Amino acid sequence: MLQPTRTLGALPTTNASAREQEDRWQVPTYSKWPIALAEGRGSYVFDVEGRRFLDLYGGHCVALAGHCHPRLVAALREQAGRLVFYSNVVYSDIRALAAERLATLAPKGLQRVFLCNSGTESNETALKIARKATGRMQVVSLVDGFHGRTLGALGATGMPKYRDAAYPIPGQHAYVPYGDLAATEAAVGAGAACVILEPIPSMGGIRMAPPEYFRGLRELCTRTGTLLVFDEVQTGFGRTGTTFFGENVGVTPDLITGAKGVAGGFPAAVVFVREDLAARMKLGEQGTTFGGGPLACAAIAATAGIVRDEDLPGRARRTGAALAERLGAVAGVRSVSGLGLIRGVNLDRPAKPVIQALFDAGILVGSCEADPHQIRLLPPLTLTLEEAEPFVQALARALAVPATAAV
Ligand code: PLP
Repeated sequence: MLQPTRTLGALPTTNASAREQEDRWQVPTYSKWPIALAEGRGSYVFDVEGRRFLDLYGGHCVALAGHCHPRLVAALREQAGRLVFYSNVVYSDIRALAAERLATLAPKGLQRVFLCNSGTESNETALKIARKATGRMQVVSLVDGFHGRTLGALGATGMPKYRDAAYPIPGQHAYVPYGDLAATEAAVGAGAACVILEPIPSMGGIRMAPPEYFRGLRELCTRTGTLLVFDEVQTGFGRTGTTFFGENVGVTPDLITGAKGVAGGFPAAVVFVREDLAARMKLGEQGTTFGGGPLACAAIAATAGIVRDEDLPGRARRTGAALAERLGAVAGVRSVSGLGLIRGVNLDRPAKPVIQALFDAGILVGSCEADPHQIRLLPPLTLTLEEAEPFVQALARALAVPATAAV
């Protein structure tokens, strides 16, 4: 089933040789699964030796419409044959389409888009817009929030592991617990540049605060002239069961940042900007060479079309709810947190050995540094319950071993 590439020459054909070659040349980045992936189809990926894995991690929450969705692949192929790249110094037919499709998905009032390349860049941009618009420096974010690895986004990232002492952080930052409106109010004081948060934290442990928290944040920010920024890098484009999270709780933020799934796997990101804020931005204030490039825009336009035509929010809502119910009945599962298809499976024991057992059974899931008892599920929104069933079975088998014996 694996195809030799026709144009690139010899590729490693075993997991071991790919690992050796990659580790020889790359600087250390992530701790990796010991497999080299070569192909993906829908909810599955295949390693270079032809072994199939059910992908409930979605390639880091990226494969929104499943791996290699035919519409995405066709759009990329077609655009690659027309024009691979030209920057924002010219107009582009495909950028016009992508921007319009994104704006159509956006919440009312946030229909201006800034196209960029990664989650961290979208958050940098949101922080810049907030500081410029308010004339204030203070950024309030979550103790265990994650917003990226460039210095501004890192400043808003509360997790100390990433904000190492080696990086003195520019700007003024305050960190408050998720769900704690009183602490947020104290940190905002008379007014901050922005409050930025993942509406459902992921790396900090998947869970959801009650709707009143979000309504309280909206009221606080409006009252103090502070911008409310939802980092929807993980939750956006349908994952929580609505196109963007705020719909779930009746709250519209002032800025939304998106990345990961926005182009179904092609590197791209976006900031949705409130119309009046966009109107105050001047030419030259924001820019990026590759943002809004033709290939990225083909992928964005195709993905936005899939989100709409295949009702990915509805699918995430239905599959997520049914899967959560099914998992909640498994002995050893304490609770299932999150919404739609961003789910934390909270175990009665450390998750690491269970994640290893799932891997051995051909199933990829995420771990959670902030909560060692949590398994994180961030699958394609096209996942079906039938596809997920082997995971439920394998989890039940792994948890059938008594908790103390499993530790
Ligand atoms: N924001 C959130 C919520 C994320 O989960 C991530 C990455 O995991 C980022 C921002 C940073 O995105 P990127 O790695 O594309 O810069």
